[in-house]
Amino acid sequence: MKAGNICVYCGSSQHVDDAFKQAAAETGKILAENGMGVVYGGGHVGLMGIVADHALAAGGEVIGIIPAHIADKEVAHKSLTELHVVKTMHERKQMMVDRSDAFVILPGGLGTMDEFFEIFTWWQLGLHDKPVILVNINGYWDSLLTLIDHIIAQGFARKTDRDFLNVVATVDDLPKALKQAPAETFDPHTKWM
Ligand code: AMP
Repeated sequence: MKAGNICVYCGSSQHVDDAFKQAAAETGKILAENGMGVVYGGGHVGLMGIVADHALAAGGEVIGIIPAHIADKEVAHKSLTELHVVKTMHERKQMMVDRSDAFVILPGGLGTMDEFFEIFTWWQLGLHDKPVILVNINGYWDSLLTLIDHIIAQGFARKTDRDFLNVVATVDDLPKALKQAPAETFDPHTKWM
């Protein structure tokens, strides 16, 4: 795919290992340096804020989408290229998908897991075919991948589902993974999501 907007899903907590904070900083920087915009949840907390700050500092464009009812809790970022304050979580998630060409999953918590599974299952259901890249910093997502393998081994998902996921070990692998990923083939005017 060509440079576009990359949706970054990641944790809102700051009480995490420095390696994850550093990965978030590098992600913001590396996306901006490669001419890619960042789409994210619009907050200024945890890894989310770090990604946005570092993308902006490197001259990148950052689009934040935050529901009004959590704009205080997640400290809506005031210096973004675009900040959209929406009504509901569902509106946020839909807009994040619509504005993005690919998804990058950094370490995160339950909200990140929800976003990851939603985008993974939307692909499974044929609602989009945008690439999904899991950044497995220090093996953070190993147990999630084990769970997905277990689900497949037990016949609840297909092996091709696992093959769709691109897992990279470091942020440095991201530009290549994004550039090599196939471009979306869906026509946004005819898709039904
Ligand atoms: P977390 O990974 O739990 O730190 O959350 C990361 C982001 O996901 C935050 O911006 C949360 O607002 C968001 N989030 C939390 N729960 C959900 C959910 N059910 N659906 C979508 N996003 C969520």
